[in-house]
Amino acid sequence: MSALIIGGGLAGAAAAIDLARAGHRALLLEREAAPHDKICGEFLSGEAVAALEALGVPPSRLGAVPIGRVELWAGQWHVAAGLPFAALSLSRRALDAAILEVAQAAGAEVRRGVGVRSLSGTIAQTSGGEVRGRHLLLASGKHDVRGQSRPPGPDEIGLKMYFRAPALHRHLAGTVRVVFFDGGYAGLQPVEGGRLNLCLLVAGAQYREAGDWPALLAQLLREPGLAALADAEQLLPRPLAISRVPYGHLAQRSDDGRWRLGDQAAVIPSFCGDGMAIALESGRLAAAMLADGADAAIFQGALLARTRRPVQLAMAALRFTRHPVGRMAALAGLAAVPGALGLLARATRVAPPPALVPA
Ligand SMILES: Cc1cc2nc3c(=O)[nH]c(=O)nc-3n(C[C@H](O)[C@H](O)[C@H](O)COP(=O)(O)OP(=O)(O)OC[C@H]3O[C@@H](n4cnc5c(N)ncnc54)[C@H](O)[C@@H]3O)c2cc1C
Repeated sequence: MSALIIGGGLAGAAAAIDLARAGHRALLLEREAAPHDKICGEFLSGEAVAALEALGVPPSRLGAVPIGRVELWAGQWHVAAGLPFAALSLSRRALDAAILEVAQAAGAEVRRGVGVRSLSGTIAQTSGGEVRGRHLLLASGKHDVRGQSRPPGPDEIGLKMYFRAPALHRHLAGTVRVVFFDGGYAGLQPVEGGRLNLCLLVAGAQYREAGDWPALLAQLLREPGLAALADAEQLLPRPLAISRVPYGHLAQRSDDGRWRLGDQAAVIPSFCGDGMAIALESGRLAAAMLADGADAAIFQGALLARTRRPVQLAMAALRFTRHPVGRMAALAGLAAVPGALGLLARATRVAPPPALVPA
């Protein structure tokens, strides 16, 4: 059995590790030649941490910092609660590089700097020529490959910037702060190296009206939950950006023989901080089911059954937070009911897949 895996993010790498360890041939193609920053809030939920540890990539050994508390802000109103699981925060540059190294050490063939340009059946046309696999696992994440597109998301832009602000870093130690505002929301949390990661989603119209990043940032700094970033040093020459993320996308069963993993299968709103857990678990589930002789349609149905409820619940919460009254009502409700924030955090999690049985 040989698997061709397109994309060396968390989903593709998790599948490669488990397949290789079970004695199967896995060829992974990653278009980026070297480790790089990725747009992501970098919040690793308890499920993501457990999956990474099971794969032999413990984030705490890579310098991840602990996160045990969440704050939700809307204007000057805010609620805070302990998380119902031990979370971590780690840059994707460090994490994605480490997981690909583990995949290679496990016996998977990892080819970096090879981009897939188009797909036809299970044949990939790449920057390095044609590549075939008996099974094709599509794990290209936020980016679609020609011949395999998801419906585009709404006119929204995701942005990410690292900051250095020692006093704020100390103040936010152990905390992820989520700030909802008109037109979007932002997550702010410490990552390794004494940095803060600000990752946000904003309406395209609002970004265009602001004109550029400095003008948009000036607007954001008027939010009480972000004002303390005013004197912070920006650590990237410009923010990373992505547009039209198809939040709510859920890949249905299809008979084209392609195994869709990670963001190609399910896109949960990023404020839930569960996209990486879904990516890892989809990769592990695909490896287990492939090794077990299942076909792509059965896998996609099984993954859909696990991801549908948390994604739909998170989409409902996202719609609620888009209206000022909804945001205030949600915050008041969460503040009034002890433990409600923890329950909401739990409800948007996916269950781990069954353990992989080696061939
Ligand atoms: C603004 C924002 C904030 C987020 N914050 C969080 C968070 O805090 N916590 C969390 O858990 N999740 C978060 N997420 C979601 C999380 O980033 C994704 O769910 C997760 O990265 C999906 O993993 P993946 O392996 O499917 O894809 P990716 O991590 O995107 O990896 C895909 C890989 O495929 C490669 N690739 C793409 N196209 C090709 C091609 N044609 N050929 C070869 N290789 C290719 C890419 O280079 C990439 O390395 C956030 C998402 C956004 C947009």
